[in-house]
Amino acid sequence: MSAPLEPEVGALLEEAQRAFRKEFGSEPTLAVSAPGRVNLIGEHTDYNDGLVLPMALELVTVLVGVPRLDGLISLVTTSEYADEPRRVEFPLPTADQPLEPGMPRWANYVKGVIQHYPASPLPGFSAVVTSSVPLGGGLSSSASLEVATYTFLQQLCPDSVAAVMRAQVCQQAEHSFAGVPCGIMDQLISLFGQKGHALLIDCRSLETCPVPLSDPGVAVLITNSNVRHSLGSSEYPIRRRQCESAAKALGKKSLREVDMKDLEARKELLTKEEFRRARHVVGEIQRTSEAAAALSTSNYKTFGRLMVESHNSLRDDYEVSCPELDQLVTLALSVSGVYGSRMTGGGFGGCTVTLLEADAATRVMKHIQDQYKGTATFYLSKAADGAKVQPL
Ligand code: ADP
Ligand code: MG
Repeated sequence: MSAPLEPEVGALLEEAQRAFRKEFGSEPTLAVSAPGRVNLIGEHTDYNDGLVLPMALELVTVLVGVPRLDGLISLVTTSEYADEPRRVEFPLPTADQPLEPGMPRWANYVKGVIQHYPASPLPGFSAVVTSSVPLGGGLSSSASLEVATYTFLQQLCPDSVAAVMRAQVCQQAEHSFAGVPCGIMDQLISLFGQKGHALLIDCRSLETCPVPLSDPGVAVLITNSNVRHSLGSSEYPIRRRQCESAAKALGKKSLREVDMKDLEARKELLTKEEFRRARHVVGEIQRTSEAAAALSTSNYKTFGRLMVESHNSLRDDYEVSCPELDQLVTLALSVSGVYGSRMTGGGFGGCTVTLLEADAATRVMKHIQDQYKGTATFYLSKAADGAKVQPL
């Protein structure tokens, strides 16, 4: 049970600085941070041109380093990840020799951002990465690593592209170097999160709108189920294809163009499964819009009800939940002071997100710890800022 706060960025920076001294024998001169995120509502809507409502977390990835003149890039992570080496070195890409994904896998997120970075000339550099975002836990350590890298590269060679393009470069890095066909939400929120606000993102126009979330009486609790069913990676592309074919069958560019009445009226154009997938997406986009309006008027009860409807739709229509996530949601909802709870992220494991009265947090964590059939990990986080240059 932890409540990471601003000072933790300081502790992470110190850890990174210590590791840098040890690995490179000098002091780093540059530091940046980029947060992980939790999606409050709007699940599996991003790749349907829909709405999402994430907030940036106080959990961050920190990168410290120095430029170097020999054209090499040297990276170290302090995170233990599988059996992969924690240090890697490679030359700057050239037109003839672009960077390519390889081993260790963790470095691909950094390499991808370097390869797609839209300004030049980049110098070589040495850098150390530390993070308080759990790796592979559904809180987007991957986007925080990409965005931290991007923000670091801006210090070495300023870019002059539109803000949204920065998120697209990081997304492209994840597509082409990590092989993950992710939407744009994670990178946008890690770049543009605002302290005390969730961010309503329209994934069609890429417009963002901050929604206040700073009431001290209200808390956001993230519960990691600590399970990840392998089904997730194979089912994700299947869901994407089903959404595309449903939109096509309805003669639309994406499910964003479809409303519930339209969908019900032309049900027979879809297979039963396509219909249920589309019903989740169309309903979820509507719920996200309503949830943002509810949050902006501090209507937490309505927000909580929409979260529960979202979870049920993900479980029954989209079929991306699992028994562990369902149990965590049921346990949270059985405690007084809880407004709502739902699975968050792609599904098949990972985390739930719960909106509750701040006073209820200890009660909820205890109840889950006592009753959950697995081992849960908790994060209580306020809505935090996006990526930043950190003074050293
Ligand atoms: P999530 O984004 O939900 O945390 P992903 O599977 O998308 O899960 O990304 C996790 C991967 O990102 C890790 O397996 C690792 O390769 C890479 N990664 C993220 N943060 C770090 C870090 N601080 N050091 C090394 N690798 C990292
Ligand atoms: Mg990720």
